Amino acid sequence: MREIIITKRFTFDAAHFLTQYKGKCEALHGHTFTLEVSVIGTPDKEGMVIDYTLLKDIVKEAVVDRLDHTCLNDLFDFSPTSENLLVYMADVLEPLLKTSRYRLHSLTLWETANNRASLQFP
Ligand SMILES: [Zn+2]
Repeated sequence: MREIIITKRFTFDAAHFLTQYKGKCEALHGHTFTLEVSVIGTPDKEGMVIDYTLLKDIVKEAVVDRLDHTCLNDLFDFSPTSENLLVYMADVLEPLLKTSRYRLHSLTLWETANNRASLQFP
């Protein structure tokens, strides 16, 4: 059966500053981040890879609600670049979005309308 990719988009507001960086972003500033979570799998009898509501609940509880309206530097011992945040999100979400029928396909984090980082799962 063909595999389909399902994507849900989330936004959250958070502050950060970059610790190893010389330039504008070493100062505290905020972003409205956009996170896109893609799941790949074969549709069930209903014709769904994963219920969008279930995907929303899992990602909100495990990631989005924990980061929204925070200073990311207070939460992590790594520098909260988009790249490092994606690795953290991957570690949290991969086991939660893994069944015999579907799995995590990719994560994309938009820091601004023009800048995004992506992580793809094998
Ligand atoms: Zn920034």
